[in-house]
Amino acid sequence: MQIDWSKTIDDILSHKISCLRCGRLETSVCVGYSRAAAVSSYAPRCQDCSRKEGCDARKLVVLCEPCAEELHIKARHVDEEGMMILLINDCRKDLEDCLDYLTDYWQDDLDIAPDDEDEEHRLEGVAPDVFAEENVWRTRLEEEYLSYHRWFRERGLHIPESGWRSEYAEEIIALGYSTLLGD
Ligand SMILES: [Zn+2]
Ligand SMILES: [Zn+2]
Repeated sequence: MQIDWSKTIDDILSHKISCLRCGRLETSVCVGYSRAAAVSSYAPRCQDCSRKEGCDARKLVVLCEPCAEELHIKARHVDEEGMMILLINDCRKDLEDCLDYLTDYWQDDLDIAPDDEDEEHRLEGVAPDVFAEENVWRTRLEEEYLSYHRWFRERGLHIPESGWRSEYAEEIIALGYSTLLGD
């Protein structure tokens, strides 16, 4: 059997990931969660976060073992695929939050009394600015989701909980909104 070495080497290299703090290249890294704003730079999903300086979101951070220990972050080893599974799941949680917000949480958030009788009682009618902002955020998350999806597809890997996407899309469409994750 002929071995395609350049491809083999590419495959090996593509299975390495590096610590976002010290740059060490490893076959497995440590992944943990932290709300500390100081670790924003080691959180792949927080790279273009608008409130980086004071970001208190629960962030998934990617580090090598010594760095994780130094920062007192409880972390566990994952390989590249394991890391991508955590990332796609983290992204899904944010999209589910968007869905909840559009469904009814916006009323709580804006301190507006729910009105089930009136079909026109929707976020885009009550607070167009908030709706526009929410849409930009959701679109960004959906694009991020698609990039993870492609990553699994390109490698012929099984997409974890593959039914999630159509369920999410159905609910968004049922609310009367469009989504990049529809068919
Ligand atoms: Zn490190
Ligand atoms: Zn952030």
